[in-house]
Amino acid sequence: MDTGLLIALLNPTIALALGAAFLVLWFYQRHRPYLAVLAVSYSLSAVGFLLQYFTLPIGMPLTKLVSNICFSVAGCCLAGAIVHRYGRKVPYVGIGVLAGGGLASFCWFLFVAPDLTWRILAMNFAFGGISLVVAAELRPVRNNGPTEKILFVLSLLSGANFFVRTLAVVIAHGPFASYDGFYGSSYWTTALLSHALLSLLIALCVFSAAALDVLKALKTETYTDPLSGLLNRRGFEERGMLLLRHCASARFPVALVLADLDHFKALNDVHGHGAGDRVIADFAAKLRSAAGARGVAGRIGGEEFAVLLPLSDLAAARLFAEAVRTVYSAGHVDGLPQGTKVTASFGVAARSGDEALEPLMRRADDALYKAKKNGRDSVRLSYERPETAFLPEPLKTG
Ligand code: GH3
Ligand code: MG
Ligand code: MG
Repeated sequence: MDTGLLIALLNPTIALALGAAFLVLWFYQRHRPYLAVLAVSYSLSAVGFLLQYFTLPIGMPLTKLVSNICFSVAGCCLAGAIVHRYGRKVPYVGIGVLAGGGLASFCWFLFVAPDLTWRILAMNFAFGGISLVVAAELRPVRNNGPTEKILFVLSLLSGANFFVRTLAVVIAHGPFASYDGFYGSSYWTTALLSHALLSLLIALCVFSAAALDVLKALKTETYTDPLSGLLNRRGFEERGMLLLRHCASARFPVALVLADLDHFKALNDVHGHGAGDRVIADFAAKLRSAAGARGVAGRIGGEEFAVLLPLSDLAAARLFAEAVRTVYSAGHVDGLPQGTKVTASFGVAARSGDEALEPLMRRADDALYKAKKNGRDSVRLSYERPETAFLPEPLKTG
């Protein structure tokens, strides 16, 4: 079989396979439209490549124009999808002006002042410009993760490929007078191979990013309690251990507050399970807003909650627990008859030295037990003295 034909079929085959793969991915994740845009992009680029070899009945010049329109729209879609995936605002105007300018120049050098070399330069410079726009958009997020970094480098490489390779090869080859021998030229062969390589690498990278999205969503689902919106026990333990590790390395104090709704079984019996659920959701919302972004809050049992508070000692955590207790017992839960009082008991423990989460929770639970025995609707503390590791270092003088 002719090697030229094999190389020619390389790009449309790769592009079609990738387009189909992104389509399947989008089918299972309809809420990520950038996957559909990528499917369109790769499919259009396959059509663009095929139209370089097969002339439509509309004639060769118009077929070339349609092919380049396909390439341009594919390039815009790819650029837009990548920028969107990384949470950046898609620069529609910049991308549109580059693609439109490229196509307008292409038409000029096709219909008005026919010149194949200038057509090549016009389209390649437009794609190079779009690649650099993507690189500029990814620059601020390039250190957020591996796929960001790789795609940033790939967009720069793609820009260099369109500008430098095109110029170098066109200068080395000399002007192209016509399409005779064009598809066997060093320009076309290097264009095909570099495009195949870059588009594969970019697709692999975006695939990894999409797979990471799915994993992250699954992890969030596994770690979240649907009724309260807080972390579930598993999520709380995982995030809590991370926070303890971070606080240990930064030498920050950290304290734990456990809370348990009082006489909840009776509340369920009297007002129904639905009302009980509303009470849980309401208490969780108050706890979450009190804990803020820094605290790690979770629902660790039916009507039991835990909050890890970084940068808090026993006194600060006690104030936190007292504040939540007071606000909660004075408030009203929607859906419960007026005057129904719902209260909670709290146990507080400050981390002692490098204490792990489990013993810390045990001490806070002992304190919570004391609060229950004390008549509930109260806060009790675990008085274990922190080790010197977390006391501030003495000021060095002299
Ligand atoms: P105490 O003041 O000693 O904590 O008494 P309590 O009744 O709150 O504690 P107990 O452990 O006896 O009962 C807890 C109740 O919480 C029993 C269970 O039916 C209820 N519960 C657990 N999970 C849920 C839930 O998701 N929704 C509702 N509505 N109730 C729940
Ligand atoms: Mg209870
Ligand atoms: Mg309980």
